[in-house]
Amino acid sequence: QKFVYDFTEGNKELKDLLGGKGANLAEMTNLGLPVPPGFTITTEACKVYLDSGEEPAALRDEVSAHLDALEQRMGKKLGQADDPLLVSVRSGAKFSMPGMMDTVLNIGLSDASVEGLARQAGDERFAWDSYRRLIQMFGKTVLGVDGELFEDALEAAKEAKKVTVDTDLDAADLRKLVKQFKKTVTSETGRDFPQDPREQMDLAVKAVFDSWNGDRAKLYRRQERIPHDLGTAVNICSMVFGNLGPDSGTGVAFTRDPASGHQGVYGDYLQNAQGEDVVAGIRNTVPLADLESIDNKSYDQLMQIMERLETHYKDLCDIEFTIERGRLWMLQTRVGKRTAGAAFRIATQLVDQGLIDEAEALQRVTGAQLAQLMFPRFDETARVERLGRGIAASPGAAVGKAVFDSYTAVKWSRSGERVILIRRETNPDDLDGMIAAEGILTSRGGKTSHAAVVARGMGKTCVCGAEELEVDTKRRRMTVSGTVVEEGDVVSIDGSTGKVYLGEVPVVPSPVVEYFEGRMHAGADDADELVRAVHRIMAYADRMRRLRVRANADNAEDALRARRFGAQGIGLCRTEHMFLGERRGMVEKLILADTDAEREEALKALLPLQKRDFVELFEAMDGLPVTVRLLDPPLHEFLPDITELSVRVALAEARKDANENDLRLLQAVHRLHEQNPMLGLRGVRLGLVIPGLFTMQVRAIAEAAAERRDGKGDPRAEIMIPLVGTVQELEIVREEAEQVIAEVEAATGVELRLALGTMIELPRAALTAGQIAEAAEFFSFGTNDLTQTVWGFSRDDVEASFFTAYLEKGIFGVSPFETIDKDGVGSLVRNAVAAGRATRPDLKLGVCGEHGGDPESVHFFHEAGLDYVSCSPFRIPVARLEAGRAAA
Ligand code: PEP
Ligand code: MG
Repeated sequence: QKFVYDFTEGNKELKDLLGGKGANLAEMTNLGLPVPPGFTITTEACKVYLDSGEEPAALRDEVSAHLDALEQRMGKKLGQADDPLLVSVRSGAKFSMPGMMDTVLNIGLSDASVEGLARQAGDERFAWDSYRRLIQMFGKTVLGVDGELFEDALEAAKEAKKVTVDTDLDAADLRKLVKQFKKTVTSETGRDFPQDPREQMDLAVKAVFDSWNGDRAKLYRRQERIPHDLGTAVNICSMVFGNLGPDSGTGVAFTRDPASGHQGVYGDYLQNAQGEDVVAGIRNTVPLADLESIDNKSYDQLMQIMERLETHYKDLCDIEFTIERGRLWMLQTRVGKRTAGAAFRIATQLVDQGLIDEAEALQRVTGAQLAQLMFPRFDETARVERLGRGIAASPGAAVGKAVFDSYTAVKWSRSGERVILIRRETNPDDLDGMIAAEGILTSRGGKTSHAAVVARGMGKTCVCGAEELEVDTKRRRMTVSGTVVEEGDVVSIDGSTGKVYLGEVPVVPSPVVEYFEGRMHAGADDADELVRAVHRIMAYADRMRRLRVRANADNAEDALRARRFGAQGIGLCRTEHMFLGERRGMVEKLILADTDAEREEALKALLPLQKRDFVELFEAMDGLPVTVRLLDPPLHEFLPDITELSVRVALAEARKDANENDLRLLQAVHRLHEQNPMLGLRGVRLGLVIPGLFTMQVRAIAEAAAERRDGKGDPRAEIMIPLVGTVQELEIVREEAEQVIAEVEAATGVELRLALGTMIELPRAALTAGQIAEAAEFFSFGTNDLTQTVWGFSRDDVEASFFTAYLEKGIFGVSPFETIDKDGVGSLVRNAVAAGRATRPDLKLGVCGEHGGDPESVHFFHEAGLDYVSCSPFRIPVARLEAGRAAA
C-alpha cells in the first residue's frame, strides 16, 4: 500500500484517497498549470493513525523519499540554513470543511534558517514575519497553545509602536516578537519550539490527522452529514510567498459569480499578504478586477487559467492563488459552492455552452436548493428602517432577535426564539451559533470570508461585510450611524440584496412560487433569469423521471394548487380532515349513539356532506387518480379533552345544572380513553367495530364518482384502508365495500371501476405483504406510522423530547421521520414491494408518508421501484426534481 503521492501522480478522481485539495492540486499539476511542487499523504494513512494511534510503519520512509525528490527538484533542503526550502502542511479531506481543520505554513524556519531566508529574499522583515507566523500557527495548532496569547502580544507590539497594521512592524520589532513567542511556547508547553525542520513537519502532519477529530470538525461533519470515518489527507507543498512586497500578494477567485452565476471577474485580492489573511477576512481586500492594474501580466495569466479550469471541470471553480514577485502560483482549486439560484442558472448556462447535457445539469442542482428558492422574500415596498447594507453572501430573508455571541444564539434558539447572530467576523468557534441562528450578519469580510462560505454551505441567510455597523460584542450591541441595536432587538437581513433592517420586515412570495402557481410565465419578458432556469431544469426532470408525483390533499383548493405544481393525482386524501369544524358535532353524535337507529341517523347526516367533498375533489383532479383513505384517527380526537370536560361537568354538578349531553359525552370520553391511542382503536379497526362507518364513506365515494361520470367527468377514485395488519381485516372491509359499490352501480346505472387498496404502515403488514396483496389492488406505504412502529418512537413526542440528544450523539444524522431509515424501515419497504408484486404483478405501489417529499427518500423510493411518491402540495416541485435526478 502506497501512502504518499507526488502531485504529478494523482488526479481529480482520487478524492477519496488524496482528499479534495490533493486531488485537485494533482489535476492542475498534470494540466501544466503553475502549482508549487509537493506531495500528498493519503487518507488511508490518516485512518491507520486514527484507528491505532500510530502512523503506518512505512509512512516515514515514504515521506523521506518524496521529500528527497522535492529537495532535489527545488535545489535546496528543507530548513537548510543558508537557503531553506519551506513547506506548508495543509489538511484536505474528501469534502471541503472550510476552516475546520488545521494548516501550518512556513515549516522549515528556525533560528538558523531565518537568517538564510532573509539573505536569499533580500528582505529581513519578510523572513522574521514568516518565522513569527510559523511559531504562532505551530504553537496554536500543533502544540495547543492558546492562540490569544500570540494575538495579544502582536496587538501589544503594534500599540507600543502606535501603529495599526501588521505591515508597519519592522524587522527589529518582529525579531523581538519571535523571541517573545518562543518564550510563550516554552512556558506554555514545557518544551522549546522545535528547531529541527523534519520534526516540525512530522508534528504538523500528526496535528492535521488529529484535527479530523477536533470538536469543530466533528460538529461540522454531523451538520453536513459527512461520514466520520473518511479521515483527511495531508498536503505538503513547497511555499511560495505573497508577502514579499507590493509585487506579491494573494487572492481568491471564482470563475463566475457564485451568487448569480454570471460570468465575469469575481474575487478578492490582497497585496503583500499570505493566504490566511484573505480567508479570515482580517484585512480588507480589493476586488480582483483591480489586479489588472496592479499586475497586468499575472492578471492575464490568471484569466486564461480560470477559463481553462472552467472548461476542464465543466463547472464553476473557485481558486486560491498567490503572486510571488510577479510570478503567479495556483494553490488550490475546486468546484465552487454557490447559492441555490446560481446553481440553477449555471446548470442551464453550461448546457447552452455545450459543456454538459440535461442529465448532468440535473446533478448540478438539488431539491433542497429548489426548496430554498421557494422561500418567501422581504417585501421591498414595506416601510421599515434600513440600517445599512453589506454583501449579499447567502440568500434568504431572515428575521430574529439580535444576539452578539454564539452561546446566546444557541441558548435563545433552544428556548424557541428566532435569532440573528451578529459578529464583527465569524470563525470556526462560532459554528454552533451559526447553526442555531436564522441568519448571520457580520461587519467585516467579503464573499469568501468564513461567515459567507459556511452560511452558503448550510443554506443559511447571511449578510457579511456590512461596514457601517459598529459591532461591540463586549457590550452586546451594535451602532449604525447613531442608531443603537441592543441584544434582543429584532432585525431583518436580506441575504439576496445585502440589506439590513431594524424591526420585522413583512415577506412576499418568491418568484419561483409565482411561476409554479402559474402567475408568472417563464417565457414572459419580465420573468427573471432564475424563473427561466427553473422552468428548464424542471422540464429536464420531468422528461427523465420514472416516478410519478402525487399530492397529499384533502380539499379542492389544495388539489388545484397541487395540480398547478405538477401533481399527477392525489396519493392521500385524509378524510378525517373533512370531519372537523362544524361537522365535529355530527361525529360526536355518531360516537355517542346508543342504538342502531341513532347511529344510522348520524351516518345519514354525514353522507351527503362527504359526497359533496368528493365531488369537488374529483372535479379538481379530473382525469387523475385520487386515493381516498377511510377514517384513520382514534375517535377521541373528535371529542373534547378529558380534563377540560371533567372540570366543566364537575363545576356544573356543583351548581346542580349538569347537562345530560355533557354527562354522556364524559362517559364516552372515558370509554374511548386509551393509554396508547396510536396503537389503539384506529384505522381499519374503527371500520370493523363501528358498523356502517366505512360503508357510509364508500357510498359517498361511489355516489360522488357516479355523479361526476354522469356529468361527463373522469373521476378515478381509489379507496384506501389504513392501518391494516393482516389480510383478514382487509378481506372483511373489502367485501362490504364491494357490496356498497355494486348497490350504487345498480342504482345509478354507472359502471364505477373503483380500485381498492391498503396502506402498508405496520411492520406486520410489510412482513405479510404477499398475503395482503391478494386483497389489495395497490399499496401505499405510510412511512410515518411505519417509522413509528418499526422504531417504537411515538411520532408526536420524540422530536421534542430526546431527538436532540440522539442527534448530538450521532445515533442518526437526521430524524428518521424526515429522511427514510433505509436500513430498517427501508428494508421492510423493499421486502413488501417484492412480496406484493410476486402475488400481484400489476400491484400499484406508492408512498404517502412525509418521506414522499424528502429529497434523499425520493431517491430511495425510485430505487425501491415504487410507481409514485405523494407529498404535500408545496413539496411537489422538489419531489419532481429529485425523481428526475434519481433517474438521470
Ligand atoms: C403515514 O402513516 O405515513 C400516513 C401517511 O398516514 P398518517 O400520517 O395520516 O398517519
Ligand atoms: Mg398513518
